[in-house]
Amino acid sequence: MAATVIDGKAFAARVRGQVATHVAALKADHGITPGLAVVLVGEDPASQVYVKSKGKMTLEVGMKSVEHKLDAGTAEADLLALIHQLNTDPEIHGILVQLPLPGHLDEDLVINSIDPAKDVDGFHISNVGLLGTGQDSMVPCTPLGCLMMLRDHHGSLSGMDAVVIGRSNIVGKPMAQLLLGDSCTVTIAHSRTKDLADVVRRADIVVAAVGRPQMVPGDWIKPGATVIDVGINRIDKPEGGTRLVGDVDYDSCAAVAGAITPVPGGVGPMTIACLLANTVTACCRANGLPAPE
Ligand code: NDP
Repeated sequence: MAATVIDGKAFAARVRGQVATHVAALKADHGITPGLAVVLVGEDPASQVYVKSKGKMTLEVGMKSVEHKLDAGTAEADLLALIHQLNTDPEIHGILVQLPLPGHLDEDLVINSIDPAKDVDGFHISNVGLLGTGQDSMVPCTPLGCLMMLRDHHGSLSGMDAVVIGRSNIVGKPMAQLLLGDSCTVTIAHSRTKDLADVVRRADIVVAAVGRPQMVPGDWIKPGATVIDVGINRIDKPEGGTRLVGDVDYDSCAAVAGAITPVPGGVGPMTIACLLANTVTACCRANGLPAPE
């Protein structure tokens, strides 16, 4: 039987609709407009596309959007001064520094200079620690989007075997923490994992976050498993031009899996929707109001 296609685009549109409803209520009932500031250093083309699309969707849900575009050569002290200014700005509830940063800037230092309460990417060391200890935190947007789709599809994830391929701080590790929090038995695989195919074959849930186009073939997938493809890779088409593919080989995996996310239209749109949801949560917490569920 063909796999169910988990439609991240439609799911994300629903999440953005809920965010817009909360934003309207915050304005009407409390006179508060949630504000998101995005800081982009340099001219990385992919980052420019992401930042533009984040700004557009922030405005679409009725929030305030502020973009700070800085030269690639910006001094660290100047970037830290801008973050300090945003930390103390009462109209800004979420701050996102687009990664990667140019090599002369210390990414850890920059991220950890963001007020953890405004750290809507969930990368500040305090939020990482809170997530790891199962306390309320800002949860990184991409893994949060994956978890929402998994919960929506399965209901409870309790007792399921989950394999996360990739151990980055922004996707793999927080994804594993979230799945553990939902009582999955979690394996984190990476470039040194032995017999990766056998490890993946055990999984009821496979999350691929590797950055290698179509690396996971269908014969690694347990029949009926759910496959969440985080990868965004651009490859050449035989007839010329390029197209986006994920980290799993979609056709062969979809033939075996029970459910699968497409690329594009799966995890990507959920990431931005979760960023907007995190900004509303940060705004509510800053104003002593209950955060949306
Ligand atoms: P990183 O490069 O930071 O991490 C990649 C991980 O994959 C590493 O842990 C690495 O292992 C592991 N890996 C590399 N090669 C292999 C291999 N042959 N076998 C097993 N594991 C391997 O990437 P990110 O986590 O930042 O991103 C992963 C993918 O997700 C990318 O395609 C990225 O574009 C995409 N992405 C998509 C987002 C979205 O919104 N949809 C958001 C963020 C990322 P090791 O640690 O041993 O080197």
